[in-house]
Amino acid sequence: MKYIATEYVQIDLDKETWECRVCDHELGNARENYKKFTKIYKRNPQEIHRPKLDPEKYELTFSPDPKVCAIYEFYCPGCGTMMDVEYTVPGHMPLHDFELDIDSLKEKMQGLAPVTDAGEGVDTTIALRGGAHDHGGSCDQSHGKEK
Ligand SMILES: [Zn+2]
Repeated sequence: MKYIATEYVQIDLDKETWECRVCDHELGNARENYKKFTKIYKRNPQEIHRPKLDPEKYELTFSPDPKVCAIYEFYCPGCGTMMDVEYTVPGHMPLHDFELDIDSLKEKMQGLAPVTDAGEGVDTTIALRGGAHDHGGSCDQSHGKEK
């Protein structure tokens, strides 16, 4: 069973591994930060956000100072797809920005049809919120809608 975590990253719940959604390259242990298994390109922020003002004339140019800002790009080692971009402090480890409860995912997705890119299968976002039920009869959940 595959769980789609982001646009470019999924988890194989049977093997408990991160995978690239483009080429199925196995990245590594799903209980760790997937960024650890990617190719990381540390960019100079001034290459991406060029100065809007002449740096010879002005101290502040609307371009990030590389002494206080770094940009990390994360690429799949299998196909080169950019999986994420992170603005951070120079020298800081890549942010562990989401950690999924693998055991809970396995339990909740047991018996559900796999989701395909064609949109078939189960909408896991609904199933994982516990809202996968019909609305006949006595449903008293608002599902985020104001009454
Ligand atoms: Zn890939």
